[in-house]
Amino acid sequence: MNLNITCIPGDGIGPEIVAEAKKVLERAGEKYGFHPAFTDILMGGASIDVHGIPLTEEAITTARAADAVLMGSIGGDTTTSPWYKLPPEKRPEAGLLKIRKELKLFANLRPALLYEELAAACPLKEEISAAGFDIMIMRELTGGLYFGERKTVVEDGVRKATDTLTYDENEIRRIAIKGFEIAMKRKKKVTSVDKANVLDSSRLWRKVVEEVAESYPEVTLEHMLVDNCAMQLVKNPAQFDVILTENMFGDILSDEASMVTGSIGMLASASLNDTKFGLYEPSHGSAPDIAGKNIANPIATILSAAMMLRFSFDLDEAAGAVEAAVKKVLSEGYRTGDIMSAGCKQVSCSEMGSLIAERI
Ligand code: NAD
Repeated sequence: MNLNITCIPGDGIGPEIVAEAKKVLERAGEKYGFHPAFTDILMGGASIDVHGIPLTEEAITTARAADAVLMGSIGGDTTTSPWYKLPPEKRPEAGLLKIRKELKLFANLRPALLYEELAAACPLKEEISAAGFDIMIMRELTGGLYFGERKTVVEDGVRKATDTLTYDENEIRRIAIKGFEIAMKRKKKVTSVDKANVLDSSRLWRKVVEEVAESYPEVTLEHMLVDNCAMQLVKNPAQFDVILTENMFGDILSDEASMVTGSIGMLASASLNDTKFGLYEPSHGSAPDIAGKNIANPIATILSAAMMLRFSFDLDEAAGAVEAAVKKVLSEGYRTGDIMSAGCKQVSCSEMGSLIAERI
């Protein structure tokens, strides 16, 4: 089986961490009988340097023809890099917005997983972190408040700003279906988060999610108000499996959930459309402060590659093996600098990639 994967090494630490994810995918392929075929494209600053724009039409065509896209990270130091003297539509981030739009990626997945071995980095009290947690935040990415009509006017000498929050039932249904499908691959529980006590858009959200739930009798559905969810994430994160929510709530809750894990270099993410296609990338940025030093943590990118195996290729066993290899390396005490603690062995970015690959 050939996996046709477009890679965007990107900027900063991007090329270093993507190289390690490729190494791990190749090893998983040898073990589980698939062949990852990589085609690199330029995006972000790397594309600006060569083509003058952050993403070319040719690069989009290559990505669209792939089964999935694996990305490092893009962007540079926003105060010193010449890329940030360009108009906004020519800066590195414009490439990312464009590819998300062109590939119709409407579902964003961000796992927040606390590894026992890294529990010390968790800012929660020990009695809470001791239970561990493994949450998948599923955020709608292309609708809601961030994409509604907005305006700022002056009325009778008073400045007034308006943003609108609109969802139609089709937008809600397609993300809800993704949420339930993903729950079926996990602990089969969906917590749908809304503000149905106040917002019409949330009341529709709740109704449509309930309609979708009827097709997934094995999945337990619960509804939770967003303010309560924000509290529960720090009070009892172990209660969650899949959190399904709209764009703005998901933006805030996914940052909260990832920060309670305490380790930015460990956090994977995926953005999916309504086929099996997805773009997989770490949640962190391009870390220009440590680029080119071979000290970045490649685990977030490696775990993003594992998500790719599971969600785009249905290679659940291989995905599980990559995740288990990450856990094994951590339990053996190997750490990159960002997650280093007393008594552990510090390794480079490339050593970490090799250690994980060898344990698959
Ligand atoms: P950042 O996530 O790049 O870095 C924040 C801090 O975390 C830095 O100290 C960095 O060294 C550290 N860090 C991040 N990833 C790490 C890793 N894998 N291993 C070890 N340490 C790691 O955030 P920033 O500094 O605010 O942004 C830098 C650039 O990245 C900016 O141009 C920003 O726009 C861009 N960015 C890109 C993406 C993306 O590509 N999706 C996301 C966020 C930020």
